[in-house]
Amino acid sequence: MIDINGSLVLSYTNCRREAWLMAHRIIPEQDNTSMSLGRLIHEASYENRGEKDVSIDNIKLDMVEEKKGKTIVSEIKKSKYSLEGARDQLLFYLLRLKEMGVQAEGQLLVPKEKKKITITLTEEEEERIKKLCEEIQKLVEGPIPEIERAQNKCKNCAYYTYCWV
Ligand code: SF4
Repeated sequence: MIDINGSLVLSYTNCRREAWLMAHRIIPEQDNTSMSLGRLIHEASYENRGEKDVSIDNIKLDMVEEKKGKTIVSEIKKSKYSLEGARDQLLFYLLRLKEMGVQAEGQLLVPKEKKKITITLTEEEEERIKKLCEEIQKLVEGPIPEIERAQNKCKNCAYYTYCWV
């Protein structure tokens, strides 16, 4: 059994093969432009808001704030692309927090596009994320998945050279 984290959930929704590579500790390209840009936006955004980079157990939250008695956890993304994966990642964090006794609300933030999406962990979403975690466990135990994405969609992936070169 592997210890599932938010990055793995994000990758699984983006591309099964990416999740498998990550789970098997195959190191992605470190100077990938997309990753560097993401790090830069994360560091430069919301400097005077909440607490950034909060680690609890095996989860790492981009930002945590207390507002009107509510705990709000945010994921900061560089663009609206891959928001489906980011949504699942945030729901996974909300579920892990709930299991620790913390009720929180989620926010997906895309500072470059001034976008804010509120994410709530409903019962249906909770069940879906639990199932998704089971699927990840199964995937990791199996062989490496075939390339599943079109080459142009892989261009920003840090495993691009691994898959395509
Ligand atoms: S390069 Fe494409 S196929 Fe390979 S891991 Fe990344 S998204 Fe998946």
